[in-house]
Amino acid sequence: MSSKYRRIVTGVVLFCLCATPLAGEYFIFSHADHDHTGDTCPVCAHMKSASDSIRRLLDGLVKSTGLIQAILSLLASMSH
Ligand SMILES: [Zn+2]
Repeated sequence: MSSKYRRIVTGVVLFCLCATPLAGEYFIFSHADHDHTGDTCPVCAHMKSASDSIRRLLDGLVKSTGLIQAILSLLASMSH
């Protein structure tokens, strides 16, 4: 795999990993003051889904050593 291709792939992966929790957090904060419709509120269901996704992603990041290696690799390639 060429260095340029690896850098692009690493950048895309990092962007996705950063954008997913940010989008979830944005949804939660932007809908925190919604018109609640009861136990079957679809907004609350989406907020819970977003919260669960963020929690799972962060749990995976903590357990992942490959991501740390990818970040270090990206930083090292950017310094050249
Ligand atoms: Zn609600």
